[in-house]
Amino acid sequence: MTKMLSCQDVIYAFSKTHPPVERIESGTTIEIETYDCYKNQIQSADTKISGIDWDAINPATGPIFVNGAAPGDVLKVTIQKLNIGNQGVMVTGPDLGVMGHRLTYRESKIIPIENGVAKFNERLSIPLNPMIGVIGVAPEGEPISCEIPGTHGGNMDTQLITEGAVLYFPVYAEGALFALGDFHAAMGDGEVGVSGIEVPGSAVVTLDVIKDTSLNHPLLENEKGFTFLVSANTLDEAVKIAVEETADLLVARTKLSLAEVTMLLSAVGQVQVSQVVDPLVTVRFFVPRYVLETYGAPLLSI
Ligand code: CA
Ligand code: ZN
Repeated sequence: MTKMLSCQDVIYAFSKTHPPVERIESGTTIEIETYDCYKNQIQSADTKISGIDWDAINPATGPIFVNGAAPGDVLKVTIQKLNIGNQGVMVTGPDLGVMGHRLTYRESKIIPIENGVAKFNERLSIPLNPMIGVIGVAPEGEPISCEIPGTHGGNMDTQLITEGAVLYFPVYAEGALFALGDFHAAMGDGEVGVSGIEVPGSAVVTLDVIKDTSLNHPLLENEKGFTFLVSANTLDEAVKIAVEETADLLVARTKLSLAEVTMLLSAVGQVQVSQVVDPLVTVRFFVPRYVLETYGAPLLSI
């Protein structure tokens, strides 16, 4: 039977000092429940948005201690299944997101999820792309709020973090201290209004410790290819880091020269934007699967 972790055990920051709420062996599959990013406080159009507890934002369920994970290792997270609730909520307003300077009030909108679509209004239905906004491990230094993305993961708000994807995180703390939350029924690249269609739900994930390899940033793999997820102060800076990390990985795996790898990445790599609204922005640099397959090379150096 799959282990279960209820959404009662939440953290608001990733930290190596948080006591684990669950201990598992490497290779365990566990179902993790989570509140939505407003801790399920907005349940109807009548909820006064000014009245909710804005300190209880972005709860992540965890942390989970994975036996054997030690600093310098990699934690592999396979997203087997993503279940979402039947009602979503969106919030936007002044000082939030790209349009904040043109909005006067903080407003919320309840969005029913029925028959595989999000009903934006009577007329318009949005196809679902269920995804995980906040996912990661304890960082190396000071605690990092669940609002902020980084090399430990966190609030990466990346629509590729979905069922079937595999994530690899650098491990900084004993046991890795994994947590996740902030599901979206749908979200566009950029997350321009600062919320996706926020929903509670549960994820079934398998957690594996990988020894003898290391990473500087989270790495995502899916059936189409792989990408580093890089968060930085600006898009320019994040793109540069993502391309450099990818180039170093490909030089090591293919033995092509740096100039050839740069040409290759210029021909096939895709700069993609995950989000531009969190305290740091997050970008991807996507490389199609056939590149490493052609060289018979593994994604990680194992
Ligand atoms: Ca988020
Ligand atoms: Zn969210």
